[in-house]
Amino acid sequence: MTGPAAGMAPVFLGLGSNQGDRLGHLRSAVAALVAHPRVSVTACSGIWETEHVGPDVQDPYLNACVAVATDLAPLELLDVLKDLEARAGRQPEGHRRPRPIDLDILLFGDLVVAEGRLVIPHREWRERAFVLEPLAEIAAGATCPDSGETIAAICAKIRRKGGPWVRPFAGGGLVDEGFLPGQEPGREQGGRGCYPGATSSSKA
Ligand code: AMP
Repeated sequence: MTGPAAGMAPVFLGLGSNQGDRLGHLRSAVAALVAHPRVSVTACSGIWETEHVGPDVQDPYLNACVAVATDLAPLELLDVLKDLEARAGRQPEGHRRPRPIDLDILLFGDLVVAEGRLVIPHREWRERAFVLEPLAEIAAGATCPDSGETIAAICAKIRRKGGPWVRPFAGGGLVDEGFLPGQEPGREQGGRGCYPGATSSSKA
């Protein structure tokens, strides 16, 4: 793995797409993160297909999470993600509208950030099964910096509560073999892969 050391405080990103080639958009975003000189992708969740949450009717999303190590500051990382969203064709006014790609910073080590354009832990993520299910695959034991709860515990609460549907996506993984030139997927588990040295991506 090139780039920042995997031993740095883990940063967890949420990915979503409900427009166009959803799987391709997710894979392209991961490929761009892998290629970024100041970001190392250390783990990838499986992909989940999820019901759109909101007052309007939209196509289902594909959602996933990745863990990265980075020496970028939180706002610098946000700029990288916004740039990737724009390059995928997302409109700046695309909040709550169909989008080719949505990239969020869920957790940044144990940082709590509340600036104008950046809130970490991400707003509303505790209520979103489409975030928690993939996040629990790669970070079940990680703790939320503001409450101290584990991701597994927060995810279990949401499962008990129920809500919009989420289901494992059978149509491929983020890092299927041959997808990223120069990258060797560390292992494959039913289409769910991860990078060498990465946390295993098993269902929580
Ligand atoms: P969304 O449409 O959900 O992607 O939200 C868009 C805006 O949320 C962005 O322009 C960001 O400035 C803001 N934002 C606040 N906190 C975060 C975060 N943790 N990750 C990503 N975007 C964030």
